[in-house]
Amino acid sequence: MNLDDLVALAKSRGLFWPAAEIYGGSAGFYDYGHVGALLKKRFENVWTSYFVDQGDNYYILDAAHILPEKPLIASGHAALFNDILIQCTKCKTYFRADVLLSELGVKVSEGATAAQIDELIEKEHVKCPKCKGAMAKTKPFNMMFDVYLGPERSEKGYLRPETAQSVYLNFFREFNILRKKLPMGLALIGKAYRNEISPRQGLYRMRELTQAELQIFFDPETWDFDLGKVSDRKLNVFFYEAKDAQRITVKEIVERHKVPKFYAYHMALIDIFYTDILKIPESKFRFFEKGGDSKAFYNKLHMDIEVDVESWGGFKEVGGLHYRTDYDLKSHSKGSNQDLSVNMNGRKFMPNVLELSFGVDRNVWMLVDLHFEKSEDRTVLKLPAYLAPFSAGVFPLQHDENIERVAQSIHKRLRTEFKVEYDDAGSIGRRYARMDEIGTPFCITVDFDTVEKSSPNHETVTVRFRDEKKQERVKISDLNQFLYGHVHHDSSKSHPSFM
Ligand SMILES: [Zn+2]
Repeated sequence: MNLDDLVALAKSRGLFWPAAEIYGGSAGFYDYGHVGALLKKRFENVWTSYFVDQGDNYYILDAAHILPEKPLIASGHAALFNDILIQCTKCKTYFRADVLLSELGVKVSEGATAAQIDELIEKEHVKCPKCKGAMAKTKPFNMMFDVYLGPERSEKGYLRPETAQSVYLNFFREFNILRKKLPMGLALIGKAYRNEISPRQGLYRMRELTQAELQIFFDPETWDFDLGKVSDRKLNVFFYEAKDAQRITVKEIVERHKVPKFYAYHMALIDIFYTDILKIPESKFRFFEKGGDSKAFYNKLHMDIEVDVESWGGFKEVGGLHYRTDYDLKSHSKGSNQDLSVNMNGRKFMPNVLELSFGVDRNVWMLVDLHFEKSEDRTVLKLPAYLAPFSAGVFPLQHDENIERVAQSIHKRLRTEFKVEYDDAGSIGRRYARMDEIGTPFCITVDFDTVEKSSPNHETVTVRFRDEKKQERVKISDLNQFLYGHVHHDSSKSHPSFM
């Protein structure tokens, strides 16, 4: 689906739109409406149940959004969390230099320095795309939002630029509370803040975003995996050294590309999440390895998780798998003067970190784009039932006292367990269409047979299936069980540790 259509759909169906919209909005900030907020929650729940709840010694944390300055100096963010800014000398418009260059078709690597970019600007005679004016020299621009705390605003802090730091800061206390076992997984779903120079493409580049991240702390000398169950699974991987994405088994990733087993196992884990649980077609999902200048210096191995999203114009990053070594805990040991190393397996060492990182907003957008289907007679958001914002719609077939009474009582009973919408406005066809557009997998209609004692269908309702449009009579007393069977998500069914 194209970008404009997705933006229009999101606004008209209660998904998301610019924050403070009635005042004209503010670039890079979005609000979720009643449908979008539910979809986001569903994604987070499925993510948690698969990545966190199925892990041994894996837990969820929650943490402050504002951090004092010191940890972000130690982590390197205060000095290095920069984009390169460039300004037009004539119209004074600011651009993110790498984005401007790639939009003009000039190849630039992700980690290019200001000097390298200046050189390119001169060599390629880059002019302002708005007014053709000359460009000034580039300068680094720190993307963190600083805040000043206290009555005199004398203490400097920052809105956290990523959720990962919140977890590293809590590692040592949790390690001790959780009986000093490794691997230990600490996950956090929460907001991160980045003063993006040019927010764009809807939920792709935002100034306030939600991340879902799992940090796994482990002993690099003892963390090993029996790949058994996933070793023959084929994944799409674009290796840094290669010129093309290839379809390759997990076993070959380990043997041919010297990727550690624990890393390859987590690639398979993520691949299963996208293809089996989120139902993304295999051909639209891949790993993209970062190397050279485009890889963060602290990552030993860095793969972006990419999905081919039409409204973003191709494969785009929706997450990443990062082997961050002991960089983070070492930095915070030094910054805080507290030794965060651990004593186990007969050695004293700094745990290593494997980070599984996901942009929640990007994944929500991607799900809408990929599951949206428009045909001649209808538009349907074909989300898996467990991701659908509403599980069912409940309709009285027509205005009739008995029918409406029964429909309302069904709605009341179902809503204690499920998200269900009651709709009695307009024709039944119109009501089906409204539910299709927001992905509701089942529509439950109460009709004359339901309330007519002499009917063979007394005390049953019609259940209409979103995708096949087939209809089935279901007993009212079986409805809770019916819905549970269809919309409950059991992540253990997909998880490799249960295969
Ligand atoms: Zn200009």
